[in-house]
Amino acid sequence: MAFELPKLNYAFNALEPHIDAKTMEIHHGKHHNAYVTNLNAALPGSGAENLSIEEICKNISKYSPAIRNNGGGHFNHSLFWEIMAPNAGGAPAGEVAKAIDTDLGGFDKFKTDFTQAGATRFGSGWAWLSVKPDGKLCVCSSPNQDNPLMDISDCKGTPILGMDVWEHAYYLHYQNRRPDYMTAFFNVINWNKVNENYLKAKK
Ligand code: MN
Repeated sequence: MAFELPKLNYAFNALEPHIDAKTMEIHHGKHHNAYVTNLNAALPGSGAENLSIEEICKNISKYSPAIRNNGGGHFNHSLFWEIMAPNAGGAPAGEVAKAIDTDLGGFDKFKTDFTQAGATRFGSGWAWLSVKPDGKLCVCSSPNQDNPLMDISDCKGTPILGMDVWEHAYYLHYQNRRPDYMTAFFNVINWNKVNENYLKAKK
């Protein structure tokens, strides 16, 4: 069964002024679409043909670099579109807010650490908020299209929030100003969805 590009739950321009419509259109329609196409092309004969994208990530060391890069790209972006929303941002809510207080020293500290994770990721990659195998939250970053689900990850866990820090995520509007993009990203975080992901990951 071939993977498909998921539909966005909002219009390309819905996240403006924080993330511009052109960036969203190219990011979703070209970049994510290419990961899906290339993943589907890499699957035949790999042994991963009938696995979910989560199962592929969890066993990624068994598969080719093409599956690692494009499978990671598909999982990461599918999560990314969902943890953003118009009229969102602000402070976290629900159980994940309590866990950020307990496990990460509060929202302000989390914001600093998460931004730092994105800022110090040299080149292309992602910053993550994940639930570790022991149930606690953690912040880390990964290179390229790797993610914490992958068996090769040095910060294993279930990602519940991811911030894309590839230049393609911000260059049209912010050029080289990754810090400005990261500040803006906090205005579009869909904390209800992150909380939902948290509760699911804790089960
Ligand atoms: Mn991207």
